[in-house]
Parts: sequence; structure tokens; C-alpha cells
Amino acid sequence: MAELDTEIDASSPFKIHLLDVGPEQYGDCVLCQFGNIKVLIDGAHPGNRVAKQGHPSIPDQIGELLNQDPPYQVSLIIVSHAHLDHIGCLPFLLENDIVRAKWALLTDPKFGWGRTADDAGPDANLDTNVRRLAAALREEPVTRASDDTMSQFLSDAVKLEDTYTEMVNFLAQAGTKVVRHGRDSLDAILNAFQGVGLKILGPSTDHVLECADLIHDLGRDAIDTAGDMLASDATATPASAYRALIGSAIDSADASSFSLGAAINLQSTVVRFKFRGRKFLFGGDMQFSAPGVNNQFLENSVKALRSIVKSEAPFAFVKLCHHGSDNAFSEEILGELGGTKLFGICAGEGSTHHPNPKVLNTLNDHREEITWARTDHNGRVSFSFEGTSPSIFKTRGRLNDEVPNATDVAEPSQGGSGPAQPVEKPIVEVVRSASPEGVVEVITKVPHVTTRVTITIDVEPRATLQQTTPSGTSATSRLLSAPTDLGTRLPALTIAGGRKLPALLFVTSKQALADNLGQTEAAHLLEALRDANKIVFDEVPRGLTESGPAIEMVTRQLRQHPEVEGVVLIGGHDVIPSQIIDCLPSSLRQKLPRTRDLDNFIVWSDDAYGDTDGDGLPELPVSRIPDGKSPQLLFAAIQATHTKSAESRAGVRNVVRPFADSIYEALPGGAPILVSKPTIFNQLPAINLDAGSIYFMLHGSDIDSSRFLGEDPPGEYIEAVNVGNIPAQTRSVIFSGCCWGALTVATKASLAERNRAYGQKAPGTSIAMTFLSRGAIAFVGCTGAHYSPLDEPFAYFGGPMHHAFWANYNIGTPPAKALFNAKIDYIAGMPHGRTQLVDIAVEHKILRQYTCLGLGW
Ligand SMILES: [Zn+2]
Repeated sequence: MAELDTEIDASSPFKIHLLDVGPEQYGDCVLCQFGNIKVLIDGAHPGNRVAKQGHPSIPDQIGELLNQDPPYQVSLIIVSHAHLDHIGCLPFLLENDIVRAKWALLTDPKFGWGRTADDAGPDANLDTNVRRLAAALREEPVTRASDDTMSQFLSDAVKLEDTYTEMVNFLAQAGTKVVRHGRDSLDAILNAFQGVGLKILGPSTDHVLECADLIHDLGRDAIDTAGDMLASDATATPASAYRALIGSAIDSADASSFSLGAAINLQSTVVRFKFRGRKFLFGGDMQFSAPGVNNQFLENSVKALRSIVKSEAPFAFVKLCHHGSDNAFSEEILGELGGTKLFGICAGEGSTHHPNPKVLNTLNDHREEITWARTDHNGRVSFSFEGTSPSIFKTRGRLNDEVPNATDVAEPSQGGSGPAQPVEKPIVEVVRSASPEGVVEVITKVPHVTTRVTITIDVEPRATLQQTTPSGTSATSRLLSAPTDLGTRLPALTIAGGRKLPALLFVTSKQALADNLGQTEAAHLLEALRDANKIVFDEVPRGLTESGPAIEMVTRQLRQHPEVEGVVLIGGHDVIPSQIIDCLPSSLRQKLPRTRDLDNFIVWSDDAYGDTDGDGLPELPVSRIPDGKSPQLLFAAIQATHTKSAESRAGVRNVVRPFADSIYEALPGGAPILVSKPTIFNQLPAINLDAGSIYFMLHGSDIDSSRFLGEDPPGEYIEAVNVGNIPAQTRSVIFSGCCWGALTVATKASLAERNRAYGQKAPGTSIAMTFLSRGAIAFVGCTGAHYSPLDEPFAYFGGPMHHAFWANYNIGTPPAKALFNAKIDYIAGMPHGRTQLVDIAVEHKILRQYTCLGLGW
């Protein structure tokens, strides 16, 4: 390495980034910076085009790393093989001109789907459900997914062949030089990337074609299996049949069930780069250790490919293939990599069986000589080769993390690795710290032996974060959490913009809030409240995982302060726990037949913080300002005040929710309600969300809070509004009938474990929290799935609640109190003429799940 020192040019990047591929299982996305040559390998999942559950989107990460405005220019994109978790969001990014590539090295779509001369494309005569199920069986087995994630997966999988084929055609038309591995000549691309030592180690054309034949045959088998499975049970859906098939295959460890997926993995293009004397290896999901197909030719071919890799070793860095699966890596292969010291594993946070425990054990046995990072635990990871020795930047967690994921059962290590050994070489870890803002935290671990270590730290200025709207019309805007707003001196805070408030009890945990915001920021906020003579109780201990003890403390405070008219919780669930409640009285729960409520009638609720007499109903309004780990959000929300033009309104409803029209009519102002579709998020003129009163009656999701959806045609969703539509500054009061619109944590209550604090969604990933971070007074909405009245006169389910909220708000009642009063009105009318047990259950749910986020006063 020493001979490289003279060549080091600080202005020329030399980095490998493993991108955060989000909350799902699997997924690869790697960005290489070899000086001016930028190579993007694979595109994670289709859903990674937007941020999810605190994970930044792929386009945002690319923009930040390249420090560019869109369209982001890369020299080369590589699609390693034709799986959903590798093609991912590339079709979207390329076709919407968010990413542009000069060259593309791609797996051939026809080969990837095993289309031969007599099999031109997807069989249009096949039953839709059979196609869905068969397409899903091509992919990596999805073992842990909510209903929504599963249905998204099935629909992404069935569209993939068309989407990918269109992308390849699009690239050729757009002028990208497209090279299809196994079909086109490689001469030109190898020549073009000589400067970064591009070498395609394999597989051979014969190997690619043999895989295509296998994919063809096994694909037919999958269609038969799917057809039989769906025909054998009239109630079976693609999702239920898929779960049954995958579940039994995994339980019985029947590897042959996955040979279709293996044949696709074996088409992975294996590339080597060599830059400034260092070599890098990327091999997609190549199953180097266990090819997993009953085919002697392919087994021999993989062996041959391994010896080619071996002849190239050692490498400065190797991405372990197939998300760290044991069919891709072993002790033997580690030996063949001959002294390679740095490894990376790409996998989504929700991964279960990957990285494989055996692989982790192998790595752990060598932890004194090697270093590895894994995106499932470390988030985005960057390896920099700019200095004399590599440095590693990671988002979270620790390096050399050998712990398997939750659902894995670790098998005892062959070599008896024992407990984790201390790392006997210095490792500089740079943590991208959320707090305090504007500071890069550097942790250095030095072995406790006689040694001398020199550490040089170069800190680059932080790039402007790119906030890309899912439209592809990428808006570059400085996120409110950017450090410029704060700098070193914190802004003076004017509580509620100086408005007179009734006596309120502000509740938080000063330690937990400091953990989320930074010590100085948290103290600054609490001081501002006390300076304004507010009643503050900040003694809730940090680390509470159950709401019970906190509710008890708050109740005691309320008894000492009978003048208090409302409770304002400051911080997310990880600061002040929210309560997981069953909306149904126990008698109703017992009588209720099995239902299909998406929350099982279990939701998050804060109402108990205002329940002074313990009767299960609040005596005082409760609102919550979730902090989103962003001082800017809390500072904006605590200072929220009315707009000068309070008499203005805006609203969007989904085309099949006409009941919203009459509710909207009662809002002050003249703007008509918009209907989606035709209204969609990127239309011109843009949706004006700068009004005093805003009403949303759209579809929402527990997973993706960054957008609300309309319908087009009825039954199919279309994006109506997203975080990109929210103005930089707003003083609105928002009321929404969108499912999970006020869910501020990643997990819905029905899936949440008790005794665990759940982390929060980030402001940019949630419409509600983005509104608060831009100064909204309140966002009132549901923590679970919502129910709308469909029959005139619409006076049941959500209808009366919406109506009562706006009626109370319009006469000058502050939003937290308006919701509280609306609940009293709602109870008086329950069950609004409904007689069926399940309908009565829905009414209880509407009552319980509505919550007020923001200051609310
Ligand atoms: Zn994969």
C-alpha cells in the first residue's frame, strides 16, 4: 500500500458505498467512486425509490454521496441478475431521469426469464393470480412481511419482467451504451473502463445460457405449482398460497424448492475493478459455495469461476455474494480470497435468514484479521481508500457484528469461536450522528497494548441533502434538519408564537429528550417553556417501555395542578411511551366473530395521559409533539401559531369518498375540494397546502407515511399528495381520515411487542411529521386503519367524527380541544344507527384511534 501514497489526491474520491436498502429483507445497492468514474451496482428494492421508516431513499443517498443535483450522473450501472431486490428502483430512477448512465452492463431480460425461441414472453392467458404467485416464486423467499408488504411484493414481482425489459429498451433509446452479459460483445465496455481495471470474471456465455434453460423449465414448474395450489383451495389468495409454500419449504429446509431462484442467482455477473493498485470484487448473488441446482455443467462452471476469482485475490474489498448466504460463502472461499481483509454484506434491516449464522461464525472466527460491515445492522456504510489505510464510515451499530438476525437460530460454531474477541488493530469508526447537529462523532478503538497510532481526520462539508419527491420531478430542498438553521447559537423560542395559552401541562423525559435532540437543544426547549411560565414536568425517567408508570406520574401532576386544561406530551414513543389499547370493550371483543380489521382493533393511544379518574376515558385533551430526533421539528412545532389567512382552506379526497364533500363545505374559505384522481401529487398548478385549514380523506399506509393515495380507476391507487407537496413554512391545522395518517412509529400497535420502545419515523418520511416540522399547529389523524361511511347520509363511522372536529374548530376551539369535544359528541351518537357487531366495533375504533399531533393549542 505504501507505493500508493504519492498518488493520493484528496480531491479525487476513492470510496465504496454500500447503500441503506431499507426495512425489507435482502437488497443490494453499491455505489463506487473511483476518482471521476462512478459505478452504481444494483438498485435495492422498487420501494426504495422513497424513504421508508427512517431509511433514506436510494436517490437521496446517491445525491448526497455524489453531492450532485438530479439527474445524478454515473459512468456505469450494473444489474447483476434479474431479481427484484437487485433491479429494484433502477427502472424508476432511470426512466424518470433521476439517474443518468453513460454505460450499462446488464443481465439480459430474455435470459433472466428463460425466454427461448418458443417462449416469447409472459403468457397473457394465464390467470392473474397464478401469474402473481409464479412470479413471486422466482424471487428470494419473503418470510416476514405484513399484509401490505406482501401484496406490494406480489405486485412488484409480477410486473418485474415488463418493467425491466422496458428499462433496457429505454436506456438504449436514451443513448446509454447497453451491454447485455452473455449476448453482446464485451470489448467496448472493457476498453471504456480500462482506467478502473474493469474485468468481467464470469460467468461464461454457455453458463448464462444453461441457466436460461433451467429458468425456463423451473419457471414452468412454478406456474404448475402455483396453479395447483390456488385450485386446491377456493379461499386461497396469492399471498396465502405463497406463505404456505414458502413456509413449508423453509421449515423442511428443502433446498430444491429454491432452485428456480438459484438458477437466477447463478446468472450473476461477477466483476472486478482495479484502481490505484487495489482490487475490488462484486458478484451479485452468485452461489459460489453451493450452486443449488441439480446440474453438473453449472456445478463445474461455478468451480471454474471460483478458481478465476482465486487467481485475482487478494482484494482490497469484497462484497460477500447473496447477502451473506451460506450458499455463497464459506471458510474455504475465505481461504481462496487469500488475505482479503475487508468485507461488506448488503441486506435490508428486516432480513431474517441473511446473513447466514454459519457465514457470521466463519467471519467471527477470523475477526482478529478481518473487518466486515453489514447494512442490515450498520445502515449505509462507506469504505474510503483515500488514505494510506482504509477507513470505514457507518450509520449505526458496530463493525464486526457477528449476531444473526432475530428469527435465525445460530448453530454452534465449528471452530468454537467463543465470545467476541477484542479487535487487535485500530479501527476508526465515523458515526453519522443525529445529535448534536453539525458535529461528526469519531470513535476510535485502539488495542490496549503498547502501540502508536496516528489518526488523520478530514471532514468534508455536509452536502445539501436532496429531497427527491417520488414524482421524479426532484425538488432540491434543504431538509429542516440541516445544521444551518441552528448553527452554534440556538434560536430564541417563542412558545406558541407568543399567543396566550390556557394552563397546560408539558410532559417529557429530559434525559430521553436529550438523547434524541442533544443535551443543549433539549435544555434550550425546556428553559424556553419555563421562561414562558409553563407548567413543565420533565421527570419521566428515560428508557420506559410501558406507558403505565408515566401515566401514573402525569396523573399525580394533574392532581397537583387542577387548573390545567390540557396535556402536551413532548417527544416520541421512545421519550414518553404511548399506550397500546384494545379499542373494544371486553364484552364486545368476546362476541365479535373473527374479523379482518387491519389492526385487529388494537391501536396506539395517548388519551390515558388525560384520564384523571381512571375510567378509561380522558377528562382532558392530550396532544403529542413527536420529536423525530430533530430539534428543528420540536422548535417549529412548539412555536406554531396561526396563519394570517386562517380563513383559507385546502382539501383532497379520494374519488370514492364523496362523504368528504359536505364535511369540507363547513371549513372557512372558498377553495373547492380536490378529488383524486384527477388530482395527483405532481400536477400543475401544484396542490396548495398553504391554507389555514387542511382536510385529507385519502388512502394511507402503515409502512409508507410519505404519501397519501387517491384512486384511478376505483380499486387502483394513485399518489395524491406526498411530503414534497408540503410548503417550507405552514401554519395549518390538518385533519385527516387517512389510514395510519398519525402513526409516528414504524410499527402499528397490533404488531408491536409490549415492553419495547419503538423508534420514530423521520420528518421527511411522514406527512404528519413533515407538517409539524414546517410549523403546523396540529395534525389530527388516525393511528390505525380508518373506516369511511359509504351510504348516504354518511352519518356513521368516520363521518360524524370529521364533522364534529371541524364544527368545534370552526367556532374557535383549539385543535386538541376540538378533537376532545368531537369525541364527546361522537360518544353521544354511538353507534350511529349501526346494529351489526362488527360495525359497532368500527365505531369504537374511530373513537379510540383519533389523536392530535403537534402543540394542538
Ligand atoms: Zn438478492
